[in-house]
Amino acid sequence: MTAEAPPIPFIDLKAQQARIADGLRRRIDRVLGHGAYILGPEVAELEAALAGFTGAGFCLTCSSGTDALLLPLMAWGVGPGDAVLVPSFTFVATAEVVVLAGATPVFVDVLEHDFTIDPAGLEPGIAAAEAAGLRPRVVVPVDLFGQPADYPAIRPIAEAHGLKVLGDAAQSFGATLDGGRVGTFADATATSFFPAKPLGCYGDGGAVFSNDSALIDVMRSIRVHGQGADKYDNVRIGINGRLDTLQAAVLLEKLAIFPDEIAARQRIADRYAAGLGDAMGVPSVRFGATSVWAQFTITTDRRDRVAASLQAAGVPTAIYYAKPLHRQDAYRHYPCAAGALPVSDHLSARVLSLPMHPYLDTVVQDRIIAAVHAAHQK
Ligand SMILES: *Cc1c(COP(=O)(O)O)cnc(C)c1O
Repeated sequence: MTAEAPPIPFIDLKAQQARIADGLRRRIDRVLGHGAYILGPEVAELEAALAGFTGAGFCLTCSSGTDALLLPLMAWGVGPGDAVLVPSFTFVATAEVVVLAGATPVFVDVLEHDFTIDPAGLEPGIAAAEAAGLRPRVVVPVDLFGQPADYPAIRPIAEAHGLKVLGDAAQSFGATLDGGRVGTFADATATSFFPAKPLGCYGDGGAVFSNDSALIDVMRSIRVHGQGADKYDNVRIGINGRLDTLQAAVLLEKLAIFPDEIAARQRIADRYAAGLGDAMGVPSVRFGATSVWAQFTITTDRRDRVAASLQAAGVPTAIYYAKPLHRQDAYRHYPCAAGALPVSDHLSARVLSLPMHPYLDTVVQDRIIAAVHAAHQK
């Protein structure tokens, strides 16, 4: 590449904004006109649209993906003495909410080739929880990098042990499994609308999906300080967990082009896989699943050298995640299934995520692919 080549963004939100600028302005102006900034009409409209998009019975929006994970745990009464099984190779929020609820995370390893929780680690995780004197209550599969976890393998194990399944779909909104959409595979599914997620707003936002209307009602109460008849009637402990009306307006506009963006992400992932597949590990998608490619994450034994030479060539990369949660200072004292998580350790030393967004054009992508090959051969 030449020194004049324009910098490559890791995620390009500007191209999307230019595409939807007029509709976005109209929707934002409408909110400024009616002035219902908290739980205005766009929030209910978005919840109906998101439930329709996923096929889930109900959708409850909230203030972030983190709160979307916390709400079901609080509604199920998960607390002190309870264990929640979570993968170690994930974003910290997956385990953080367990501790915020007063319960104990128990770390389980992931599958090397699709980065999601290893169903074979659940029974050892349950045993580790019981050995620590804890009651296993919930398992949280994480749809890491955009692909649903192996819910058909996880659900029967959870059912046999009386565990709820809480899907962490912060990175996978819009993905599918055996013809169903994310939002329908678990007792409750949490997603995030953080700007860089596949469907993102212009601030923080999230949503929970479920077919359980009683659960939704309790979470709706927790979302507004545990309200009963109204906000000043408090029947349980809650949080301030609402989605802003302005963010709902932004999401309604973005949802209209989301299916088209998912298709573009798939084309880009296919091109990466075809261009890189022989030289290094490219992510595999299980039979029956689709990914929304929140990240395109390669694995290589020469990760740090490859990342450095890509940076020198003007190609930004990111490491998700350099340190698994069971190695973090705040989490290292919690139990691990079978005492060790070798795949999480292995991946954290080898993963490297490449620029990925629906507006990555083929010229720039080919420049990235060539730079990865050059970096790998050094
Ligand atoms: C982003 C993310 C979250 C948290 O979402 P926020 O909206 O940032 O609170 C939780 N889990 C995973 C796997 C994530 O990637």
